[in-house]
Amino acid sequence: MQRFDVVVVGAGTGGCTVARRLSSQGFNVCLVDYKDEASIGDKVCGDAIGKHHFDDLGLEYPRGDELERVILGVKIYSPDMETTFYIAGEKLHGFMINRHIFGQRLLREALNAGATLLDSTKVVEPVIEDGYLRGVVAKPVKSSESVELRGEVVVDASGASAAVRSKLPPEMGVETKISREDMIVAYREIREVKETPPEPDFCNIYLNLEVAPGGYYWIFPKGDMRVNVGLGVVASSLRNPKELLYRHVFRRLHRELFEGSSLVHGGGGLVPTRRPLDSFVGNGFVAIGDAACHVNPIHGGGIGPSMVGGTIAADVISKVLEVGKPSREELWPINVMYMQRYGAKQAGLDVFRIFLQGLTDDLLNYGMRYRLVKEEDVLRASLGEELHLNITEVTGRIFRGMGRLPFLNRLRRMAKLLKEAKAICQDYPASPESFPKWKVRVQEVFEKAKGLVE
Ligand SMILES: Cc1cc2nc3c(=O)[nH]c(=O)nc-3n(C[C@H](O)[C@H](O)[C@H](O)COP(=O)(O)OP(=O)(O)OC[C@H]3O[C@@H](n4cnc5c(N)ncnc54)[C@H](O)[C@@H]3O)c2cc1C
Repeated sequence: MQRFDVVVVGAGTGGCTVARRLSSQGFNVCLVDYKDEASIGDKVCGDAIGKHHFDDLGLEYPRGDELERVILGVKIYSPDMETTFYIAGEKLHGFMINRHIFGQRLLREALNAGATLLDSTKVVEPVIEDGYLRGVVAKPVKSSESVELRGEVVVDASGASAAVRSKLPPEMGVETKISREDMIVAYREIREVKETPPEPDFCNIYLNLEVAPGGYYWIFPKGDMRVNVGLGVVASSLRNPKELLYRHVFRRLHRELFEGSSLVHGGGGLVPTRRPLDSFVGNGFVAIGDAACHVNPIHGGGIGPSMVGGTIAADVISKVLEVGKPSREELWPINVMYMQRYGAKQAGLDVFRIFLQGLTDDLLNYGMRYRLVKEEDVLRASLGEELHLNITEVTGRIFRGMGRLPFLNRLRRMAKLLKEAKAICQDYPASPESFPKWKVRVQEVFEKAKGLVE
């Protein structure tokens, strides 16, 4: 048995952040990952991250080999490709990164701060005693002998697999299962192309529910004639994203770009695209990052939020360990602070995500063509501000003419629910006592949001 102050499961972006911050305050932290040290950070990803995350977290911008391209914004295409939204502005500047090198930088920072790395070691189950999580059982990949890693707090930062959270008993008070309707299964490739796509400073997002049911496909230009191209579908659709990518994107819709291109790397992954878990703390337990559904539900970006979660978790854990027992109640401020900083915005966008997934390509085409939400309002909404609708007399007449007036009413109701979901999450209970009542409020809003889907 090995003892630490804190055991962090998963050395991804969230895990390295929490480990670095706690180690630099003098805590004895074990960072455990089933990948070998050199492979840590090498994750299948879209590789795009907003510059604002670096500003907010005080992280150095990527440079050298870690930086593949500076991004000025996002172009969103309607399913019929007739309408393009340019979502640009200083707050949307970002980076295409080399994910592996970025992950290695975060790992190095955690180790330099004093964290102990246990690599090539898989966490298999939690150790629970007297209603507290006391540690985890882990198995080195190349050995049959298990080790027990004990900590005052265990942080589950193991990504979408949620290696610890998914095995907790109900009395921990944390959801263990995520609905397949709230997960995206994605497949992406890095490809070397013959010609750089036009406007390579923009990431391209293509809405097309026929090609990518419940999700979207993307083409993000990287450096050196490479592109990051991928497709995600809602997991409950049971569709194969790789097959859809090849059939529709490579062989049909973007044939010219991909003809003669060569594969550099391909792989798949899961993204939880919903509001954060209602609570992600328990006695001796905290979940962050994908393991806590800290992901933007609209575009699936989770690198930034995982580091926000890691920062908040470290700051609260350090205070709690200095004064007493890491009970659910003492760790509760992690829920409150995350909800206020990012979770409320996530909840609002989750209402929008549910609504969008229930539309048809025709409605998306018309909605974009008549700019029911204007480009500048998409930008504001993506930054967490209110969603303004652009429903005018003219659009009212057009949609009435199409027999689609009820759609405009549903859109209005969705915008109202989005605001409500955000407000409820901003009003997150200060302690666990009023949590059950709060949970009812949030569930009611999401039931209504699901009711808006045709
Ligand atoms: C195809 C795809 C495209 C994406 N594109 C983007 C994008 O462009 N921008 C963006 O911001 N986000 C993107 N995301 C989401 C983003 O990758 C995640 O939200 C982010 O990596 C979450 O960080 P994390 O630290 O929670 O988990 P991860 O980065 O997934 O790290 C988890 C770590 O835990 C380890 N681990 C897992 N299970 C165990 C276990 N049992 N024992 C020990 N170790 C374990 C893993 O090896 C891994 O190192 C994408 C995701 C996918 C799948």
